[in-house]
Amino acid sequence: MKNIVIIGGGAGGIAAAISAAKTDKNAHITILEGLDRVGKKILATGNGHCNLSNEYISEKCYHSKNYHIMREYIEKMPSSMSIEFFEDMGLFSSSDDAGRIYPYCRQASMVLDILLLALERYKIDVRCGQKVSDINYRKNAFFIKTQTGDEFRADKVILATGGKASPKQGSDGSGYALAEKFGHKSTYLFPSLVPIQCKGSVFKGLKGIRVLCRADLFIDGKKAGSETGELQLTDYGVSGIPAMQLSCLLEKNASKGNAQIGIDFFPDRNYDEVRRIIADRIKMYPKETLENIFLGLINKRVLFAMLKSLSIEPLSRTADSLGKKEIDLLVSTLKMWKFEITGTLSWDFAQVTGGGIKLDEIDENFESVYRKGLYIIGEILDVTGDCGGYNLHWAWCSGIVAGKSAAE
Ligand SMILES: Cc1cc2nc3c(=O)[nH]c(=O)nc-3n(C[C@H](O)[C@H](O)[C@H](O)COP(=O)(O)OP(=O)(O)OC[C@H]3O[C@@H](n4cnc5c(N)ncnc54)[C@H](O)[C@@H]3O)c2cc1C
Repeated sequence: MKNIVIIGGGAGGIAAAISAAKTDKNAHITILEGLDRVGKKILATGNGHCNLSNEYISEKCYHSKNYHIMREYIEKMPSSMSIEFFEDMGLFSSSDDAGRIYPYCRQASMVLDILLLALERYKIDVRCGQKVSDINYRKNAFFIKTQTGDEFRADKVILATGGKASPKQGSDGSGYALAEKFGHKSTYLFPSLVPIQCKGSVFKGLKGIRVLCRADLFIDGKKAGSETGELQLTDYGVSGIPAMQLSCLLEKNASKGNAQIGIDFFPDRNYDEVRRIIADRIKMYPKETLENIFLGLINKRVLFAMLKSLSIEPLSRTADSLGKKEIDLLVSTLKMWKFEITGTLSWDFAQVTGGGIKLDEIDENFESVYRKGLYIIGEILDVTGDCGGYNLHWAWCSGIVAGKSAAE
């Protein structure tokens, strides 16, 4: 009987176990999970709703140092692969206007319940509280040691430990050292899908404000990315989906003073249109104060902070006291208010890991090119998806492919 051991009982590890069990009904499949339960992170996904995949799966929604290999994987992973995997277990799903796929009942706990039921049905041996500390290969088998002192023998091993993001959910980065034992190397690792810290006291008074805008990322003065959506202003910088998405592009650039984020408060109007709006107001109400003249345009607190930062003060000034230079400055800042990026929040606040084990060290079935029988899947690899269900889709699908191959 074939012994398959999966290290890590997260999204990828569970999918791999189910896929292996479907492929070989006689295989003995064990999941070794460091925490006291499997799938803990799944419960936190999508704000408790679990955005499990996306109708639009494209390599454009993923980042990797090895774009070419990543694209080859993604091309073989249509959204139907995730949907069918779950439908097969009885989970109904539906998508929102942006194509984000959720369980029909919008409960992450239901996704985990369905997965746990499948693990039970396929008689998968789930061992919790078994954090793997070492792994060796001798006499055609793997020997896996856990922190409890137990040792497990395996013909095939699937490494599904996740990366370093959100370590309180078990993914503390210990998987990289296990892979390194077989010669695997990682690209530079950084917190990704994570809030961005910015320089400047302006943010202190803006905590909690959400603005619909376009956010641009500049690296060394050049535009590196752009996201439109609801940006959340915080006392340290920016959060929300646009900021999280842009954080994927920061890599080593954060905290070096060469990255900036720019906010366009009127993404659907060009400079001239915004200037006309401002000029018309001033013409119509010349004796109105700066405090009132721009009401109704953008968030009041944001506007006042902007005027202050531009030294267009005091707010009791009348509109007709604004000079041409001041109006030009205000309009260009409304169209692009730039802030220096000083870094990102830590791993604790990151949804995923940027970078990972190099893709040219595994084959199309996720099997190590250095050690036959060892598979590496999920977030530990150098593939990072955007917000929108792309990371779970990657975890399930890489697990499905590796589980099948390991069992064949
Ligand atoms: C708050 C939050 C919300 C998210 N929301 C979404 C979302 O809605 N949609 C989406 O697509 N993605 C989302 N993500 C990202 C997504 O959850 C992960 O990319 C995905 O879970 C990665 O799956 P994985 O199996 O590779 O790793 P993980 O899910 O991290 O699982 C790894 C497992 O391995 C275990 N482990 C680690 N080391 C060892 C060891 N040495 N021995 C034994 N066990 C070990 C861990 O305890 C863990 O259970 C979110 C992430 C977070 C943190």
